[in-house]
Amino acid sequence: MFEAVEDYPGDLLELEARFSTDEACRGYWFRLRWPDGFACPRCGGRKAWPASDLLWECAGRHGQISVTGGTIFQDTHLPLTLWFRGAWWVTSQKNGVSAMGLQRVLGLKSYKAAWTMLHKLRHAMVRPGRDRLQGRVEVDEAFVGGEQEGVHGRQTESKAMIAVAVEEDGDGIGRIRMRRIADASAESLVPFIADSVEPGSVVHTDGWRGYHPLQTRGYEHEVTRLRRQDQPAWELMPRVHLAVALLKRWLLGTHQGGVSAEHLDAYLDEFTFRFNRRKSRRRGKLFYRLLEPSVAVAPAPYKSLIKSPAQPPF
Ligand SMILES: [Zn+2]
Repeated sequence: MFEAVEDYPGDLLELEARFSTDEACRGYWFRLRWPDGFACPRCGGRKAWPASDLLWECAGRHGQISVTGGTIFQDTHLPLTLWFRGAWWVTSQKNGVSAMGLQRVLGLKSYKAAWTMLHKLRHAMVRPGRDRLQGRVEVDEAFVGGEQEGVHGRQTESKAMIAVAVEEDGDGIGRIRMRRIADASAESLVPFIADSVEPGSVVHTDGWRGYHPLQTRGYEHEVTRLRRQDQPAWELMPRVHLAVALLKRWLLGTHQGGVSAEHLDAYLDEFTFRFNRRKSRRRGKLFYRLLEPSVAVAPAPYKSLIKSPAQPPF
């Protein structure tokens, strides 16, 4: 029968031992996707038989159902053993891994394959219908990207603006949400807050007018204004400031600043995934958390990751 619901390897050795074959990976992953056994996605019917390694045939004549269809593994050319190792490296390294680093540890021939795998895994880090932040939440905007220019001799696009929401947990920080926004208008800020913060929460901002509509959207809006002219603006929102500082350090460290504005959201998703699980001591659990939703999110074909083909994928 099926093992405990949360069943994951404890360390690299265990991963290597358990998931040394594609068959073992498929078995594990199949249980994540269908804990109660196969069900046809078209009719829900349970009468089905395996037609091949990755195909099931529904008894209700719904044709062959791909086990990886509709997931990040759809149409992949890489074996699942590599995917599992990739997911392990992404979650087991404290600061994650760059595409070049992943290419090296997995022994992939192509940089593009490593980059695509990383981006698909990032895609899986955003759980559909995840909980919104609640309680008291600091919200502010920040710029990312511009400060790297010239420093590392790598071309980066001009600064990107992001919106940041941070749960206040006493003097500390709870969970966070981040998103790239076009500008600091209410049209950009309010939808971000609506997606990120549970109505009824206290949203704490500075006096910027982009936040004025919050009161009418079911939030308790608390405004803190600068007390003196020379007071640095970040003092108003210290938690957002800290989260952004850590984000910048991560972008410069793990990714050496080589993140274009166009792909920034994917990196924000990974940073958020990491940050919100920073107290988790069991790396294997992060691995499980990453694979678990990755069976449910829509696939992210390479084409959709690369918005403008003229841009180098970085
Ligand atoms: Zn069916």
